[in-house]
Amino acid sequence: MDLYEHQARELFAEHGILVPRAEVTGSPERARESARRLGGRVVVKAQVKTGGRGKAGGVELAADPAAAELAARRILGMDIKGHTVATVMLAEPVDIESEFYVSYVLDRAAGGFLAIASAEGGMEIEEIAARRPEAVARIHIDPAEGVTSAKAARIADAARLPPRTVDVLVRLWQVLVREDALLVEVNPLVRTAQGAIVALDGKVTLDDNARYRQARWGSEGDSRDDPLEAAAAAKGLNYVKLDGTVGVIGNGAGLVMSTLDVVAGCGARPANFLDIGGGASAQVMADGLAVVLSDPDVRSVFVNVFGGITACDAVADGIVRALDTVRVTKPLVVRLDGNNAARGRAVLDERAHPLVQQVTTMDGAARRAAELATTV
Ligand code: GDP
Ligand code: MN
Repeated sequence: MDLYEHQARELFAEHGILVPRAEVTGSPERARESARRLGGRVVVKAQVKTGGRGKAGGVELAADPAAAELAARRILGMDIKGHTVATVMLAEPVDIESEFYVSYVLDRAAGGFLAIASAEGGMEIEEIAARRPEAVARIHIDPAEGVTSAKAARIADAARLPPRTVDVLVRLWQVLVREDALLVEVNPLVRTAQGAIVALDGKVTLDDNARYRQARWGSEGDSRDDPLEAAAAAKGLNYVKLDGTVGVIGNGAGLVMSTLDVVAGCGARPANFLDIGGGASAQVMADGLAVVLSDPDVRSVFVNVFGGITACDAVADGIVRALDTVRVTKPLVVRLDGNNAARGRAVLDERAHPLVQQVTTMDGAARRAAELATTV
């Protein structure tokens, strides 16, 4: 789960990183009051879970409370990369002398974390890396050792950051560890005219597997960024939205993962990952089908079930009951194999739904689903 800038800012402050004083509101009138409390001159910033707000017009400097109200009026409701702005943060403006980039990100391939840092912050790191790759330092972090002062000094040195950033680098690592984050990014981290090191922006991605330890994000923690993922999570389904057109439903995460590969191998792209698990009750199947079919990108659905402890006829019963409760609008390709496959297939044959077809092999069914997705 990604946090909003103002939430990231809160975490930074709790771990002793300097951040500008700020308030958050969803109303222009209250923005004016906030600006007055903050001393009049403020930066008005859109709170959306995407970067590039500055370029999109979502960050404005306001000279006084009246200007802050006008800026908030302009920014609230704005669309930034598909995210509608519902709240703005008003922050005390900072006198910037230089802007840096620092982040820690999980590096799965290396089995650790990666520190990325640059003395040329402000713009997006991809841009900095493309323009001047030598200006971006990348340093592996052993998660068991973490970022000690010595390690932080090495990061600062490699990126040519001022020595005062060392303390911030150590604290930022503590944010990552204590808050169960997979990513913490500060862009820009700035040196003010007075020489202080201040985090002017913040991005934090929390590890969803640690949600139970991060109760403070409560209801916020349940609101996924993708509406389909939110709907699926509400029903307790293991669903991840992807960018293709073949809906995929299977029992068991391993089977679903390999189903995605087989679909891709047939030249199509999976629209989602959905594991209905070992039990695969009729209700779970119906819920899963409803979510997958409500995805406007889906053109065909591949239901891939390998009966193990759960017999195929029970799964077929589930599919039939799902067909009675969910309005099926797209072709379904079903492959049943394993425990009681023959009985399961007979159950579906008997139901004879016009949009449901059975293919007995995984490869064959994937090919059929891929064809249907590209010809529908
Ligand atoms: P992003 O565009 O979504 O990454 O939003 P940022 O929070 O990084 O803001 C974009 C840019 O606005 C920053 O790189 C700064 O140059 C500028 N900015 C943000 N806050 C302040 C501030 O308090 N004072 C000044 N002078 N500039 C600011
Ligand atoms: Mn930024």
